[in-house]
Amino acid sequence: MFDRPLAHRTSGSGGSGGVAAASAAGTAKPTYDYLVVGAGFAGAVIAERLATQANARVIVCDVRPHIGGNAYDHENEDGILVHKYGPHIFHTNSERVFRYLSRFTDWRPYEHTVKAEVKTASGVQHLPVPINRTTVNALYGLDLQTDEECESFFESVAEPIDECKTSEDVVVSKVGRHLYETFFRGYTRRHWGLDPSQLDASVTARIPVRTNTDDRYFGDTFQVMPLHGYTKMFERLLSHPNITVVLGTDYRDLQHLVSYREMIYTGPVDAFFGYRYGKLPYLSLEFKHETLDLPEGQERALPAPVVNFPDEASPYDRVTEFKALTGQRHPKTSLVYEIPKPDGDGDPYYPIPRPENADLYRKYKALADSTPGVHFVGRLATYQYYNMDQVTAQALTLAEQLITGTTSRTAAATATTTSGQRPAVISVPASAAPFGALARGAA
Ligand code: FAD
Ligand code: UDP
Repeated sequence: MFDRPLAHRTSGSGGSGGVAAASAAGTAKPTYDYLVVGAGFAGAVIAERLATQANARVIVCDVRPHIGGNAYDHENEDGILVHKYGPHIFHTNSERVFRYLSRFTDWRPYEHTVKAEVKTASGVQHLPVPINRTTVNALYGLDLQTDEECESFFESVAEPIDECKTSEDVVVSKVGRHLYETFFRGYTRRHWGLDPSQLDASVTARIPVRTNTDDRYFGDTFQVMPLHGYTKMFERLLSHPNITVVLGTDYRDLQHLVSYREMIYTGPVDAFFGYRYGKLPYLSLEFKHETLDLPEGQERALPAPVVNFPDEASPYDRVTEFKALTGQRHPKTSLVYEIPKPDGDGDPYYPIPRPENADLYRKYKALADSTPGVHFVGRLATYQYYNMDQVTAQALTLAEQLITGTTSRTAAATATTTSGQRPAVISVPASAAPFGALARGAA
């Protein structure tokens, strides 16, 4: 079959390299069972399942010069492991997802904490988020000792709301207007470019309110980080003889060069349909990375792994110190500041949960549902504000459905079960220097 020889070709010029060469030479088009668009969680999990469980031949392409989607991490020029697209912290309540991903990585236990930088009459304070008893005591100079005392405090300030429909309702109904304005209103207005009253309740409902002193950001059963980083985990997910990875290539430039039976699409759903009903709003961000020297003997620059900026006037949503997440020791430290770009330009990162967007998405979903041979999965393709574990669960479910329905049709494919160290990459743009190693791994 065609994908193995192709997997040994690399191209320094970008585009679809070996596939294009095969096509230009007039040879038969390379044949796959599936074209997977996107090498993030959705695409990589589906590809792994189809390749290993249905013995399907899969070609995965990504327009970016790397695998991992938004979870991609790499060592920067100082050798510090950083997340290119902002901090990614793994947490899940799903044993199924945790067990599945555990086949491709070891883990480092990590319970995430966040502090908000709040300006008070007595100066700048760094207070725990989610709001808990420590937050309330420090902000108001109180000495609440028990959950019950804290509960009574929240009850005394909360505004009763019959039906919480918006992100403002959710917070105000639990902790009242002052805490809402101190921690949520400014952050949300800057990040989303919308007032919390214009956003679905589900957005701020992601953040709990606690009456105890638990300062962990997440309450999930499994809270871990991949021991050697996300990209290493993706390399293992995609390292299979049935999987070919094409990087730096838009699927629209590839799809006529290969034959495939079905497509798995994980990019933005509105783009797939040429924005037929107009653009679905996705929020974009800019990531400003910087590395600092540290005084001798000092390991960290920030008072917490992540510092949030609730003041609407701040240019940044939050700043993250990577060594706190990864546990890496290094004389320097690397940070990333997230700068929101809510006006629609830039890469799409967040679907924006509000009723009119859900209505527009429903129209695209109807189109997607009636497009034979294409399956839409992931955060951008199903326009859902999903975390990594939710996307993994969604991809596992789709894979199961495909495998149950298609095993017989893919049975003819050659059985290949051993897994290599690196995915077979057939095309990497010249500019993607750090990925040369991946391509060489395939040669
Ligand atoms: P993506 O990772 O976006 O992958 C889709 C891929 O498709 C992309 O690589 C894209 O280049 C490719 N693509 C799109 N169009 C085309 C095309 N035309 N041709 C070829 N390729 C194409 N989740 C957590 O669980 N914990 C966190 O701490 C966390 N932090 C986050 C922080 C930020 C700043 C952001 C933006 C997200 C965060 N997430 C977090 C969410 C997490 O990133 C997503 O849940 C997950 O990465 C979604 O995976 P996906 O495969 O659906 O999409
Ligand atoms: N949020 C806020 N202040 C905070 C933390 C969160 O207003 O200090 C709101 C904000 O609207 C944010 C949402 O809660 O977008 C969800 O926060 P989360 O940390 O889950 O966002 P993500 O990590 O997905 O960007």
